[in-house]
Amino acid sequence: MSLVRAERLEKTYRVGDIDVPAIKGIDFAIEPGSFVAFVGPSGSGKSTLLNMIGCLDHPTSGTLTVLDTDIATLDRRAAARFRGEHIGFVFQDFNLIPVLTVFENIEYPLRMVQKWPAEKRHAQVALMLAAVGMADQANKRPDQISGGQKQRVAVARALVSQPKLVLADEPTANLDHDTAYRILELMKKMRDEFKTTFVFSTHDPKIMGEAETTFTLEDGRLDSDIQQEELGHA
Ligand code: ADP
Ligand code: MG
Repeated sequence: MSLVRAERLEKTYRVGDIDVPAIKGIDFAIEPGSFVAFVGPSGSGKSTLLNMIGCLDHPTSGTLTVLDTDIATLDRRAAARFRGEHIGFVFQDFNLIPVLTVFENIEYPLRMVQKWPAEKRHAQVALMLAAVGMADQANKRPDQISGGQKQRVAVARALVSQPKLVLADEPTANLDHDTAYRILELMKKMRDEFKTTFVFSTHDPKIMGEAETTFTLEDGRLDSDIQQEELGHA
């Protein structure tokens, strides 16, 4: 059973009187435990797609099934609950809370969303800190650590409540190549350790080799679909 399945998926934004098609009828499946990249230039639809998989936005047509749930059936409140239970997010600009320490940033979802009891929470944060190699930085604030370290913290925060799926929209765009490479290695290690499915996007062809499965987006369509059509199999 696929973890994510898209069939004839389309998303068109309405801007004033104009339709802006961003995803133009794509099909794909993501298997549990996989390490997947959506690769494509700026404007190709990566964020639109990840936002839909993350239940932050609805498709215009077609279906998108995430963990056996047709996400079009979720209203705002149900989508928020679904995200809280099943999905972790890693962002391009890290999105750490500046006034909180590294420890407190990782703890935040367990405190504010999941409401775990303190003792269990602290043990889980300690486990995540160790897993991302940041145990000795626990009391620092985000402005006292490097970009690569911030993204390590963000990876720990995304995984702390043990989601089945982690979505990372251009997680390495603000990192130099070596650091980007190490962050993807870390994500892969976390996938192995915690059996979480990772889906990330990138516009950097050098990084896409790190993925085990790559989908190439071009102007809202997948390479694989375009080739099928050219062969007359559409
Ligand atoms: P990427 O993440 O690959 O850069 P996006 O998903 O952000 O691509 O954008 C895909 C297309 O959709 C672009 O043409 C972009 O201008 C358009 N788009 C994205 N978000 C919106 C929005 N909120 N309103 C209108 N158009 C949008
Ligand atoms: Mg984007």
